Amino acid sequence: MSSVLEPIYEGVSGGAKPVATPITVAPGDGIGPEITEAVLKILQAAGASIAPEFVEVGERVYRSGNTSGIPQEAWQSIERTRVLLKGPITTPQGGGYKSLNVTMRKTLGLYANVRPCRSWKPVVFSRHPDMDVVIIRENEEDLYAGIEHRQTEDVAQCLKLITRKGSERIIRYAFEYARTQNRHRVTCMVKDNIMKITDGLFHRVFEELAAEYPQIETNVQIIDFGMANFVQRPESYDVIVLPNLYGDILSDVAAQMTGSVGMGGSINIGNGGALFEAIHGSAPDLPRNVANPSGLLLAAVEMLRHIGQHEVAARVMNAWLVTLEDGIHTGDIVGEQTVQRAGTREFAEAVIERLGRRPESFAAAEATAPAEPMRLPHLNEKAPEPTAKALVGVDVFVDWKQGAAGELASALKAATPTDGPQLVMITNRGVKVWPHGNLNTLCTDHWRCRFQGESVTHGQIVALLSAISDAGLDFIKTEHLYTFDGQAGFSLGQGQ
Ligand code: NAD
Repeated sequence: MSSVLEPIYEGVSGGAKPVATPITVAPGDGIGPEITEAVLKILQAAGASIAPEFVEVGERVYRSGNTSGIPQEAWQSIERTRVLLKGPITTPQGGGYKSLNVTMRKTLGLYANVRPCRSWKPVVFSRHPDMDVVIIRENEEDLYAGIEHRQTEDVAQCLKLITRKGSERIIRYAFEYARTQNRHRVTCMVKDNIMKITDGLFHRVFEELAAEYPQIETNVQIIDFGMANFVQRPESYDVIVLPNLYGDILSDVAAQMTGSVGMGGSINIGNGGALFEAIHGSAPDLPRNVANPSGLLLAAVEMLRHIGQHEVAARVMNAWLVTLEDGIHTGDIVGEQTVQRAGTREFAEAVIERLGRRPESFAAAEATAPAEPMRLPHLNEKAPEPTAKALVGVDVFVDWKQGAAGELASALKAATPTDGPQLVMITNRGVKVWPHGNLNTLCTDHWRCRFQGESVTHGQIVALLSAISDAGLDFIKTEHLYTFDGQAGFSLGQGQ
């Protein structure tokens, strides 16, 4: 597709630099096109060897009836270039529109979200002037797998999926990031004092991989304490790796703590490509030529490093830092250090004028590539240890409104075939209500009925379900109970 921005890059894509790296550029909505224009002008002036292919995604595409907001031409370009520089987009109000970012992450397998969050003292006021942290969030799994069900009148559920492969991939990414970017500590945050099996797996994989990186300091924190500690002392963190939901929350909290949403860049990266964008949205409230292009510019600097143009990346970064030092600031960061309040275009011109200079108060960016590149082995390189998996029972979930737990237990026991797993426990919302329940427990219409035995077969479970159904009970789902090398692969369900 053609774009009003295309002429900016005529020089490069027109053949001035024969080895220009093709990238896809989606200017987006609202302030998107103007900050994209500003960023591309800076990149061109700095000598970036890129050949942008412009595509349209976002509001107009949504409104044309495409519920994903991404037309086929955009996918084709991204598949060709595998690098997308994207302006923010506006999601139209009302239902029926899919999140463009979620679609891109899932379709392209962008499993890692990397968000550097640092404060820019003394230019931007932040209560945490020494903060310089990189949040690495798993992007595909956890509660965001999108597997939700309503099963009874009263109860809805969302499946939290944590996999060994998914955990290994993101945690190794975090360690490799730390190793190649000279960062010294990786912190993992989980809630495995409660979610012992799911978050416990993430924790275990972290410990296993930490052993491969003895030069990197590591620690594991429970997310509630960790996040509380982070907002108090963010400067004591370096790289943080988290499952999806915690990472989503912490990365937004961290970005706000830096003092300006206009100064944050974000990277989504995976086997299918890499997406570089600002953390902020399309800012429909802003008039023209006011927006700060820095967030997208910092994302573009990361893009240049990703495609191996380290020297250009450092040149852009240093000119940007000098611009801040010289007091040329967009409206969102105007403060005591400001000498000139600049619009989007004037700010970009100021950065261009400073190309080739090095900052004095900020540490200068260096042009060197990491001594050793990232090493992300294929997941199937190391075969998993074989485990002895044994079926030892089944949790049968029943929709029951007719009475108390004891009555349900009697009905189930009367229906249960003698040959096979037997009823051992009933819980409601995870709290044991039979045997020996407590009258104060709030019960809904969603009962988890646990049947256990030895050497249970699928046939026995089918017979049990059939008998439960014949007894007029509405079973709504089942979860099989397995042991792995003798260890229970299920929670004990006493409530926490
Ligand atoms: P927003 O980030 O667009 O704006 C929040 C506030 O920050 C506003 O006051 C805005 O003026 C200011 N701001 C944002 N970027 C700025 C910049 N570069 N310079 C100066 N000030 C800036 O968030 P919102 O208002 O909640 O969302 C607006 C639209 O953006 C919505 O349609 C939302 O869905 C979309 N959005 C898109 C993305 C994305 O594409 N990645 C991310 C977030 C929100």
